[in-house]
Amino acid sequence: MHLIEIFQSIQGEGPAMGRPATFVRLAGCNLCCLGCDTDRKSSFKISLTEIEKRIKGKRVVITGGEPTMQMDELSQLIEMLHNRGKEIHIESNGTNPIHRRTLDLIHYAVISPKRGSNFHLDYWCARENVHIKFVLGKAPWCWTTDLLQPILPTLDKERVWIMAYGTDRDMQGAREAWDLAMQMGINYSDRLHIRLCRR
Ligand code: SF4
Repeated sequence: MHLIEIFQSIQGEGPAMGRPATFVRLAGCNLCCLGCDTDRKSSFKISLTEIEKRIKGKRVVITGGEPTMQMDELSQLIEMLHNRGKEIHIESNGTNPIHRRTLDLIHYAVISPKRGSNFHLDYWCARENVHIKFVLGKAPWCWTTDLLQPILPTLDKERVWIMAYGTDRDMQGAREAWDLAMQMGINYSDRLHIRLCRR
């Protein structure tokens, strides 16, 4: 697979916030979001077996980039990790639906739809192990309170998260995300890794 990095950390956002995990950051993305902080240049090839060797502990978060850009190998990796008893999480922009058989092996998929892209919301919402995370912000791919207010009541509140697009420790925008989550009765996600360690 084409990999950017593997590292140990604590999940800073979404439904597994605060939980330790090994992060597998895969290379490549089909979108080009303004301000994306993923390094697109420094990837390298690595075998599935080598990835598995580098994973410590039970929980694995497969992220990117966009992991589904390497769909065949991604499915093989997920099957391999599942057979080793790992708890697998995946983060995706939702534009490439993951086959149901593979999704069944995942603990959580967290889909972060980017405004203006084809993110297959109905497909993801039909799966109980899928959470949807909307990022609130000023960038063209982010969501606004006005855009989300009509969408949110149609979704399962337990599996929807609002998070601010914050890249600084003071997380400007977090208050607006908090207020919208409060108003709509849905989950608020912070970005603890940004606040505490900038990872
Ligand atoms: S979908 Fe994610 S990885 Fe891809 S460009 Fe957008 S922010 Fe970056």
